[in-house]
Amino acid sequence: KTVFVSGATGFIALHIVNDLLNAGYRVIGSARSQEKCGKLLEKFGNNPSLSMEVVKDISDLNAFDEVFKKHAKDITIVLHTASPFRFDTTEYEKDLIIPAVNGTKSIFNAIKKYGAQTVERVVVTSSGAAQIQPAYCNRDGLIVDESTWNDCAWANCTTDAVTAYCASKTFAERVAWDFLRENKGQVKFKLSTVMPVNVFGPQMFPEPSKTTLNTSSEIINKLVHTNKDTEWDQFNGGYIDVRDVSRAHLCAFEKEECAGERLSLFGGMFATQDILDIINDDFPQLKGKIPVGRPGTGKELTTKGFQINNERTKILLGFEFIGLRQSVDDSVRQILEVESKA
Ligand code: NDP
Repeated sequence: KTVFVSGATGFIALHIVNDLLNAGYRVIGSARSQEKCGKLLEKFGNNPSLSMEVVKDISDLNAFDEVFKKHAKDITIVLHTASPFRFDTTEYEKDLIIPAVNGTKSIFNAIKKYGAQTVERVVVTSSGAAQIQPAYCNRDGLIVDESTWNDCAWANCTTDAVTAYCASKTFAERVAWDFLRENKGQVKFKLSTVMPVNVFGPQMFPEPSKTTLNTSSEIINKLVHTNKDTEWDQFNGGYIDVRDVSRAHLCAFEKEECAGERLSLFGGMFATQDILDIINDDFPQLKGKIPVGRPGTGKELTTKGFQINNERTKILLGFEFIGLRQSVDDSVRQILEVESKA
């Protein structure tokens, strides 16, 4: 079977491509340039089961037409992971919301035009951001589950990058479910969405030249590089390991019972204090160099505010999630190894 993966160059998508190839699928990935396509093929040792296509900018409503025109007869599964995940912009609509929304519209329209009879399953990488507005996260007693939606509106979501990113994921996921409702009978595929919280864990192909990592990995990378006397961000939220996120994308289309489901990928709550505690405990070479904070006090933050119930997802997926300690340890070990070789 052939799987199409949009945004194959991403932190999460590289793990997905790797898992798909290991599981025996043929994979067609998309990246923004020929150069990125070439590099990715090289990283996977020019595996004959992997090919790449250029999709320049997912803000273009016809972005995926060419790829699907060419390959739709072969593609049975589509994993749409491409979407901007960055906070370093003030052009919220142009850089976050439009690409997320139009990218989703564009891939669904291309499936309808060229793969209505051939594409069987579609998985959209949504986010925990599509479940709750950042402004509600400190509400004690608020419980979010697979049926909960971020209730943001376009009119008031462009206040800051975090709010706008969360809205971009919400609007994009809505596009997906709405499309399916509006096109019942005209397309064959079943839809699932995957909603990870902050994704940690190792990079598939660590690059010594990269000092800044993708947005979620940067949370850990930044702490590893914070001087002990420097202020650091007190931050808390949910975590999940990238290897579990990838595995869940495969389950989402392989398991019949995952069709029509929103899968909430949440391993537990963390505070940056918990990450510092783990790094200070497990990496003696960093002790005295990075901040210590107030060890053991992370739970003062994580037991407050909203909580996530993903019991339904855990039953559907049927595998145990990697814990925070292993996720942090494997991330930090890789960062230090790569730097020691640079
Ligand atoms: P990355 O930034 O590593 O990956 C994002 C991918 O989307 C890259 O392939 C990127 O291409 C592509 N992309 C972004 N903007 C455009 C655009 N305008 N046109 C074409 N391609 C574009 O982040 P992640 O791997 O973390 O994110 C992957 C998905 O997972 C996203 O949908 C994100 O919203 C979602 N997610 C991530 C979480 C996390 O904590 N990491 C949590 C919840 C959801 P390029 O490499 O060229 O920049």
